[in-house]
Amino acid sequence: MKYTILFLSGLFIFLITGCKEKKSIEKKNLAVEENLNSDTFYQYNIWWAFVNKVFDGDLTVEKMKEYGDTGLGSFNMLDGEMVMIDGVAYQVREDGVITEGKDSDKIIYANAAFFEEESSINLTEVKDLESLKTELLQKLSSPNFFYVFKIHGTFKTMKCGGLAKQERPFDDGLDVLIPNRPVFEGENVTGTVVGFYCPDFIGNINAKGFHFHFISDDKKLGGHVMDFSFDDVLKVGIDKKTNYHFQLPDNNDFKNVGFDKEFQYKKDSIQ
Ligand SMILES: [Zn+2]
Repeated sequence: MKYTILFLSGLFIFLITGCKEKKSIEKKNLAVEENLNSDTFYQYNIWWAFVNKVFDGDLTVEKMKEYGDTGLGSFNMLDGEMVMIDGVAYQVREDGVITEGKDSDKIIYANAAFFEEESSINLTEVKDLESLKTELLQKLSSPNFFYVFKIHGTFKTMKCGGLAKQERPFDDGLDVLIPNRPVFEGENVTGTVVGFYCPDFIGNINAKGFHFHFISDDKKLGGHVMDFSFDDVLKVGIDKKTNYHFQLPDNNDFKNVGFDKEFQYKKDSIQ
């Protein structure tokens, strides 16, 4: 009888301890997950591969949304630029028409994050894209972190670049396609600029410096920000990121890509 009681108590203690340990491991995992989700800059496809004609990816819009509600990038086969705000991935097609990307649509290159505004600054000297980059760089706490930006404003002019859908075999890389991209322009246009910043040490993994995409409130103008003019106070929401997660396309194109060409947008950002 004594032994039975002893055995049962032992078993009870073992079960309680086991459960506690399991719970604490689960808690730890949850904390790691939460931290990764809220403080992570997610990137799909290494920039250098994208430049070298890896244009066919395996990331769905649905999957991308697991990594963020804010983003920029390109749809598969360069079938349009991608701008994600508030969890909706907009597709700016070759002719400039903007539609909502379907969950099953695929993405070939993306930066995404859950945007949580940590600070907001008012920029008073912004006249165009170049001055935005200059002023913003001065105001960042350090150029050595990753950042996500959300900017809403009315721009006197806005010039956005698009992409022309490609077919196999791919003849040209981004070094040729970008200078010949479709261009969309608007005047007195109100909308949101989504921006991502990578320090120079990112090398060829991503686009260095600032990268901005735009979408107007009426969803009539969007794409990669090439330039704009502005003459008011520009309010910029900033979210610093200290985790970085990149994911590679798991396919033959990536398996066989030769990293021969280099391409970065002009200094600190985008042309
Ligand atoms: Zn872009």
